[in-house]
Amino acid sequence: MEDLQEKINKFKEIINNSKNIVFFGGAGVSTESGIPDFRSKDGLYNQIYKYPPEEILSHTFFINHTKEFYEFYRDKMNSLKYEPNITHLKLAELESNGQIKAVITQNIDGLHQKAGSKNVLELHGSVLRNYCMNCNKFYTGEAVFKGSNIPKCTCGGIIKPDVVLYEEGLDDDTVFKAINAIANADVLIIAGTSLTVYPASGLINYYRGNKLILINKDKTAYDDRANLVINDALGNVFGSI
Ligand SMILES: [Zn+2]
Repeated sequence: MEDLQEKINKFKEIINNSKNIVFFGGAGVSTESGIPDFRSKDGLYNQIYKYPPEEILSHTFFINHTKEFYEFYRDKMNSLKYEPNITHLKLAELESNGQIKAVITQNIDGLHQKAGSKNVLELHGSVLRNYCMNCNKFYTGEAVFKGSNIPKCTCGGIIKPDVVLYEEGLDDDTVFKAINAIANADVLIIAGTSLTVYPASGLINYYRGNKLILINKDKTAYDDRANLVINDALGNVFGSI
């Protein structure tokens, strides 16, 4: 059993020797910025609301109860006030150095872009992009989070966040790019996810290399498949490289 410092040294060594790293991150990447993890014990999905969050964040609910959807959405999903943490910043730095080729994320908060990352593949969409359901006109996150009514387009259509709701499929193009990046990666870092959420578990099967690194506070079902497992806070790990 290696100690934590040895593992972090090994991590640094692998990072420093690669120019083709792909990062795959889950909710744990953003929790250190203060954004609650949807699925953690005290996260969003266990908070008391009139409807269960899984129901509110579904396509059917959005269509049938748009006003209530937006009450919840503005209250719980507004990530505009949060700032990137050390992990977001280090990833952006590694991309500008030419070492990271893609950041694949399950988060919808836009913090990777805020930190400076360019090639971000957002599997579940982003609260920063919103479109009119009628004419497809683009609206920013600010435009949707401000106010208290259902956000409407200048054409009168309802504006919908470009976020993958329950019952909705992922964007094919984003999934294809994620598969492509993973299949061609030299190093794959998976961090801040227990890998239980679709499609994370399926995507990592495309990795063909021998430098699979898992960083997560708790153990995951994939620990045995990883070449390096670090059970520690992401900020500690990325803060030391
Ligand atoms: Zn419109």
